Amino acid sequence: MQFDKLIDNFDKEHLLHPYTSPLMPLPALKVTSATGCCLVLSDGTALIDGTSSWWCALHGYNVPELNAALAAQLSRMAHVMFGGLTHEAAVALGKTLLGMVPKGLQRIFFVDSGSVAVEAALKMVLQYQLAQGSSEKCEIASIAGGYHGDTWNAMSVCDPVAGMHRLFKPLLPIRYFAPAPRCSFDDPWDEQDFAPMQELLQRRRHSLAAVIVEPVLQGAGGMRFYHPQYLRCLSEQCRTYGIKLIVDEIATGFGRIGRLFACEYAGICPDIMCIGKGLSGGYLPLAAVVTSEEIAQVLGHYAPQALMHGPTFMANPLACAVSNASCRLLLASPWQERVSHIEAQLKSLLYPLCSVPQVAHVRVLGAVGVVETYRPVKMREAMERLVSMGVWIRPLGRLLYVMPPFVISSAQLQQLCEAIAVVVQDPELFA
Ligand code: PMP
Repeated sequence: MQFDKLIDNFDKEHLLHPYTSPLMPLPALKVTSATGCCLVLSDGTALIDGTSSWWCALHGYNVPELNAALAAQLSRMAHVMFGGLTHEAAVALGKTLLGMVPKGLQRIFFVDSGSVAVEAALKMVLQYQLAQGSSEKCEIASIAGGYHGDTWNAMSVCDPVAGMHRLFKPLLPIRYFAPAPRCSFDDPWDEQDFAPMQELLQRRRHSLAAVIVEPVLQGAGGMRFYHPQYLRCLSEQCRTYGIKLIVDEIATGFGRIGRLFACEYAGICPDIMCIGKGLSGGYLPLAAVVTSEEIAQVLGHYAPQALMHGPTFMANPLACAVSNASCRLLLASPWQERVSHIEAQLKSLLYPLCSVPQVAHVRVLGAVGVVETYRPVKMREAMERLVSMGVWIRPLGRLLYVMPPFVISSAQLQQLCEAIAVVVQDPELFA
């Protein structure tokens, strides 16, 4: 296959793609259709998708149930504003979601992307503290190694040192970071792991409005799994100090790491949960901030008596309809078995790569398999090799990882893992 033939010249000259040079962009391969777990390129090549399109296409592509839900909604209406109006698609999705999230969360604020959900969640806690007369509680803490999105406040809580937004650090609001948890998911719990966060919370208890973390899996900041006990301690201590806990389940939600939400591993209910990505099964942009009755009550009782946020496409009916269909499809499917089957296969095929000299670490949880290498992957060369093996895997620095759709077959998953094995065994593909 010739890479050049898959590239669209207009695209190359005028359309900017993420995380690549505007002048010498990495190739952007033209996709003409996608079905099941395969992307079909403009020359007819089919690639097995190991990314779920940045972790959201839980059921794969061109899913009959989701197509039908979308078509049915489209025949009624594509969009109406959510200010002063509502619709059945939002109501139905709201009901479905309340049956899925931890019991203490009852209020849902729909937005159109994960980053905006993080923005709205941060705004919500700051407004909550102001409403309560605690204007000194205006700071936010997080943990190093995190990733929460690309908008301004979301960037401010991403890893400030090694994260992709570190360039902006001097311009962003000041946040407080505890070191990333070191105790991994399967390690025996070490009390000391929580000590730096404990110290931070104690020291800043009068000024912290909230802590925001990705639960159990730190995703785009490094794909590390940490111990659920950390989350349990965090939840307890936040409660003790009157600090709100925001849990960013945008990457982990909807079964990805073996529980519907990663919070369930710790048995906690946060004050606010951000969800996105898998919410719509990868069909349309939709995210949400889900919060407690208590926060809603406080916001409602004090001026301005409203959350001052309202994106144009908030609760878009098409997005809500397809999201509801996606959640229902997930709940009706044997997703736990599928995810544990994926986990077992990832373990058996990726763990042996630990002995490869390029490989620093291999880790697997649920439908996430990560091979960390010592040196960064040469993107262009690795991409070319991966595509030539019929797979779509997009490395992230020193990480080769897969987060496949839950409906992937064993043979397809094997092909993804074998492709990773080929890449890591070729020193030429590393910088
Ligand atoms: N939070 C987390 C944990 C994420 O993984 C992401 C996206 N990778 C975001 C927030 C931002 O979501 P979006 O790209 O939809 O803005």
